[in-house]
Amino acid sequence: MKKILFAASEVYPLMKTGGLGDVAGTLPITLRNMRHDVRVVMPAYRDVLKNAGQPKLVATGLPGVITPTRIWETKLPGSTVKTWLVDSPEHFDRSGHPYCGPDGNDWPDNADRYAAFCHAVTAIALDRAGLAWTPDIVHCNDWQTGLVPALLATETARPATVFTIHNLAYQGLFSWPTFQRLNLPASLWSFDAIEFFGRLSFIKGGLVFADMLNTVSPTYAEEICTPQYGYGLEGLLVARKNELTGILNGADYSAWDPANDVLIKQRYDVGTLHKKAIDKDELRRKFGLPAAADTPLIGFVGRLVEQKGIDLLLAAMPQLLAMDIQIVILGSGEARFEEALSLIAQQQPDRLGVRIGYNEQLAHDIEAGADMFCMPSRFEPCGLNQLYSLRYGTVPIVHRTGGLADTVTDATDDGITSGAATGFVFDTPDAAALLDAIRRAIAQYRQPHSWQKLVRNGMHKDFSWKRSAIQYLALYKRAEQTRTTGADI
Ligand code: ADP
Repeated sequence: MKKILFAASEVYPLMKTGGLGDVAGTLPITLRNMRHDVRVVMPAYRDVLKNAGQPKLVATGLPGVITPTRIWETKLPGSTVKTWLVDSPEHFDRSGHPYCGPDGNDWPDNADRYAAFCHAVTAIALDRAGLAWTPDIVHCNDWQTGLVPALLATETARPATVFTIHNLAYQGLFSWPTFQRLNLPASLWSFDAIEFFGRLSFIKGGLVFADMLNTVSPTYAEEICTPQYGYGLEGLLVARKNELTGILNGADYSAWDPANDVLIKQRYDVGTLHKKAIDKDELRRKFGLPAAADTPLIGFVGRLVEQKGIDLLLAAMPQLLAMDIQIVILGSGEARFEEALSLIAQQQPDRLGVRIGYNEQLAHDIEAGADMFCMPSRFEPCGLNQLYSLRYGTVPIVHRTGGLADTVTDATDDGITSGAATGFVFDTPDAAALLDAIRRAIAQYRQPHSWQKLVRNGMHKDFSWKRSAIQYLALYKRAEQTRTTGADI
């Protein structure tokens, strides 16, 4: 049995803005079910404290921390996983989005907020917070926890550390005066530590000092070692290649499986696939699209930002809408994309349905009702919607990058027959390649026998969390083996 402290800035269902929240809400429970002693630690944002039931006050004050800080204990909803909420009101007693203020900009004191969180996690990791528990492993996630491995590195007796990169695009970069204000050890201001071209980089704390590193897919682990995806950190990542691996996220099949999805109109599985047509009708109805039994329906769910390739889909739209297909899009993000999509939907309401916003119900309706799911992401550390799509028999059309490349196999005749092929994969992130992949998908759809086989191939794939959790346990073991304590920095 391993003792694991899992630190994250968002944990579903207490707080979620993206894939990190999903991982933090599911991996600890999976590890707990495998009989490991996992504790989660996250900031006590105002909305989290409100929704945490009746948390127990377990610590008041932390050594060396002057701002009033308390630690509350609760359980991760629906589980027995102990969860510690770091309550520093000056930093976290705010409602709404965890990282941005109401104006949509980052909170100006994010460095102070997450430095305070990192100090608390470090104190817990060293059993200096009065919680009478010492972990074997501290598992940190993304830049908000990046200082923890750096602060632990100089300790002579410390747990092993693992740092997971969920998205390298977010690094926690701040100014030199901010570094000074945070009162961090002066030795950390070095290019070998957390200084990055004259700025403070939180993520470097994890990348330089964690015993083991991983990202959320094997292909993304390779990609971030190149200038195209590495944001200048590729040199460091190449230097640490022996300690860097990729572990795919799992899908939470208790919420995302058409056989037991409580949100969709008609449940179905691989043996009752014909019932999926009822969900297709329902989806058309919700988006006001006319019935057209043989017309393929393509879905998109995601943030409307360039990362997700929504601009590629927009560029391909004139040609797409000239074909015999219908499209439904759900998402929110940059205003220019929201407006462009809404305008086309007004002009061509029989072909395109658009809903701007975050809507869990509609996301399920799309997975169940669409024939194909489009994910033209420019980069995608792992991606979840393609995993859901496979389980729902909604054939994914994806750009060959990151987790998409690792989870979807392109449809060739042989691949369809052997069971390997599960979707349509294109190589360059441009509108022409996307269009070509969609054309191939539609041609395949017109051959019902092999289409059905392709759909079933995807439904049979298993991306459950248990597989990922086993790989994380192996990573924890390697972290304990590679740990060197009392680093001289
Ligand atoms: P990322 O973390 O980059 O946003 P992921 O694919 O890893 O992308 O995870 C996104 C998650 O958020 C998925 O569960 C997806 O269904 C969900 N999601 C994204 N946008 C919306 C939306 N507008 N409405 C409902 N769910 C959404």
